[in-house]
Amino acid sequence: MKKAQTYIPYGRQSIDDDDLAAVMAVLRSDWLTTGPKVLEFEQAMAGYCGVKHGVAVSSGTAALHSAMHAIGIGPGDEVIVPAITFAATANCVVYQGGTPVFADVEADSMLIDPQDVLRKITPKTRAIIAVDYAGQPCDYDHLREIAGQHNLFLVADACHALGAEYKGRRVGSLADLTVFSFHPVKHITTGEGGMIVSDQTDLAERLRRFRNHGIATDHRQREAARTWQYEMVELGYNYRLTDMQCALGISQLKKLPAWIKQRQEIAARYDQAFKGTHIRPLAKREDISHAYHLYVIKVPERDRVFAKMRAAGIGVNVHYLPVYLHPYYRQRFGHSRGLCPVAETAYEEIISLPIWPGLDEGQVASVCHELDKLEVGA
Ligand SMILES: *Cc1c(COP(=O)(O)O)cnc(C)c1O
Repeated sequence: MKKAQTYIPYGRQSIDDDDLAAVMAVLRSDWLTTGPKVLEFEQAMAGYCGVKHGVAVSSGTAALHSAMHAIGIGPGDEVIVPAITFAATANCVVYQGGTPVFADVEADSMLIDPQDVLRKITPKTRAIIAVDYAGQPCDYDHLREIAGQHNLFLVADACHALGAEYKGRRVGSLADLTVFSFHPVKHITTGEGGMIVSDQTDLAERLRRFRNHGIATDHRQREAARTWQYEMVELGYNYRLTDMQCALGISQLKKLPAWIKQRQEIAARYDQAFKGTHIRPLAKREDISHAYHLYVIKVPERDRVFAKMRAAGIGVNVHYLPVYLHPYYRQRFGHSRGLCPVAETAYEEIISLPIWPGLDEGQVASVCHELDKLEVGA
């Protein structure tokens, strides 16, 4: 019973009265979907990221799928993805009939290893998907150089990294296409939801068409042209995001800078608490601002630490099993252990601690206290 009252999840949303009012106002308006809030949210996100276009879709996964379509991924194409990520990063390639090729990660940061990306390039490679694991931007200078030299698209799966910066540049402006998720554990939420941001107008147009069945015009354009006629020019999906959700997103985005600061403060407290212990936080690179979607540590006896922390009511988690070790990937692509050795070793040691804006000092202290009691590595 005590546990249910005090359970600390690893992440959770923050919703206030402004958010409620924003959603209610839309519910009372004429447009519940494909209305004015969609473009407003898209422009707010594009402006925040410092790029021209935002395309709102129904989830981060839909955003990844749309991105793969926009860059023309199809059967026979290979796309390089990091071994450690959420399965959707690789699944989006499979949706399009392509083959995800797994690159290993760097041991200290868990970010995709540019050297291994180079080793995995073949004549069939069409794109790289970089994942800003935990909220830390990848080595974009290096990845852009590789993409440029081999004529590949660079897509950023920045579902962990809204608000992060790399050498003074916002995540969202560093790749051809950048994908965000608005799931409740992410930096801002719309319940379910996603967005692709880009500076490239031709790609943005393809994304807009794909999220609306492959139809070339939207209802506003038809109204302006005083016609009922529309043409479906390719196969698309209904990946639209509603106006209620976009209104929530607009309201949430206003609070993002303060929330990032709170996440960074919590991370700094953890960093301080683990100095001189056997608990090893992931390495943080120079020249970046970390958005801390996750706070990941490496510990010996990870499974014991996980079980004990959960028993103490601390919602620790593990992000992630190397994607190719999931049964589907083993069966469909014949993968097995040994493909990305650094990722496999790291996976045995990682554990994610609670981090979200509403987490207070007392809760951070009790996470540290419970860990301390386990005498990790002693
Ligand atoms: C959350 C997440 C996704 C998928 O987002 P959904 O909105 O849940 O579909 C994709 N990639 C990464 C790295 C994520 O963390």
